[in-house]
Amino acid sequence: MEQNRVILFDTTLRDGEQSPGASMNLEEKVRIALTLEDMGVDVIEAGFPIASAGDFEAVNAVAKVVKKSRIAGLARAVRADIERCAEAVRPAELSRIHTFISTSPLHMKYKLQMEPDAVVQAIHDSVSMARNLVEDVEWSAEDGSRTEHDFLCRCVETAIAAGARTINIPDTVGYAVPDEYAALIAMLINRVPNIDQAILSVHCHNDLGLAVANSLAAVRAGARQIECTINGLGERAGNAALEEIVMALRTRNDAMPFSTGIRTEAITRASKLVSTVTGFVVQPNKAIVGANAFAHESGIHQDGVLKNAATYEIMTPESVGLSRSSLVMGKHSGRHAFRDKLKQLGYELGDNALNEAFKRFKDLCDKKKDVFDEDIIALVDDEARAHDHIRFQSLEVIAGSKGPQKATLELEIDGQSCRAEEAGDGPVDATFKAIRALFPHEARLQLYQVHAVTGGTDAQAEVTVRLEENGKTVIGQGADTDTLVASARAYVTALNKLLTKREKTAPAPVSA
Ligand SMILES: [Zn+2]
Repeated sequence: MEQNRVILFDTTLRDGEQSPGASMNLEEKVRIALTLEDMGVDVIEAGFPIASAGDFEAVNAVAKVVKKSRIAGLARAVRADIERCAEAVRPAELSRIHTFISTSPLHMKYKLQMEPDAVVQAIHDSVSMARNLVEDVEWSAEDGSRTEHDFLCRCVETAIAAGARTINIPDTVGYAVPDEYAALIAMLINRVPNIDQAILSVHCHNDLGLAVANSLAAVRAGARQIECTINGLGERAGNAALEEIVMALRTRNDAMPFSTGIRTEAITRASKLVSTVTGFVVQPNKAIVGANAFAHESGIHQDGVLKNAATYEIMTPESVGLSRSSLVMGKHSGRHAFRDKLKQLGYELGDNALNEAFKRFKDLCDKKKDVFDEDIIALVDDEARAHDHIRFQSLEVIAGSKGPQKATLELEIDGQSCRAEEAGDGPVDATFKAIRALFPHEARLQLYQVHAVTGGTDAQAEVTVRLEENGKTVIGQGADTDTLVASARAYVTALNKLLTKREKTAPAPVSA
């Protein structure tokens, strides 16, 4: 690979999925992986195969369908993890095992309870074991930015000697600042004798809002792989945002002469997909992908942009694939056109799901004059969940000022239709009580939020619901021109995600 090419390693499906409430099911992960492949991501970290059967299956499914990107799985420095990971990524055309262990004094003492010498031995053993199973091995020094320099050099040298070809130095806790982090990378390049046999990688968390700045500083110091996520999703304050890194390198190529393989025009679509699937709404003023990132409100700015876009625009909306909401389809669009449209938006539905989605699309055309891309995306995201235990069927509500408000709800639970009528403090409360009556559960409603998918009073309402059970949170979304139907759909989606999450067990603690 050429000198100034930076490898982009996307971990939306692994680190991103670890953010509280951001769980994704298998179909959603595959859809995101295909989108990442299409936009030119070099390496996709698809999950942590030992964590649960669901994680294993997701990594395995992604490894089967993605052809152009390398598929990585995460593994701790133990045999069971590494073997399970190798099995999960085996179908991939290009595969990678990403194994890690903590190297900072704090982590070794309290988290691992291991002496430094034992950690070095574990690095040698785990990397060798992984290299016996796959060609391409990445090794990470967890809490690398807080590791003593001499010890870090020793660990990196050991990992390379054992066969790791990518060495990742994460700022796991988001503590680094750019100059210091760049100096750390430069120190490794100067001091580790076999460093020319590996690519240095960075993985920065955004606890101080410095993840992107730290990543770019590291690249200028010699790192050539950046780990990042769409929309900056990730543990706590998240990871470095892929879209910000890519657009910073493209827009300021004069100051940072590095290139990536990313087709930037695919950024907006990927951002929307990840936001919809996880239910993590992008803040309006977020760089690159926020709703206001290319909006010019003040008269002076608008005037300037009309005369010459460069007056206030350092990059064009088109360069990130942003186009105005376009009228796409209407009453007279046929099934064929609908299927083509879905394909264009990145969806491949099976026959049953397609029929259902088409039916709902027709219903929507009857209620709503203009149907936009966003409407179709909202509708299909509901329909893509064909494997759910609980499915919404119908809802009738009595609302208004004269109470009590009542909801009659029909759900299909594991193939069985059932029906309940409940009264409540308002129609939303009545609807949620009816769900609870049909499917008893202990989860607590933490958030209920409504927003319009597009403008106009006939716009679809998109409802977001967050549920919490035993410290685990999930988010569900639902869309409909009827806010209450959207609410019921959102709650049912969240409940289905909770059921998926219940099946997941936390990985066993590391010993050895
Ligand atoms: Zn991380």
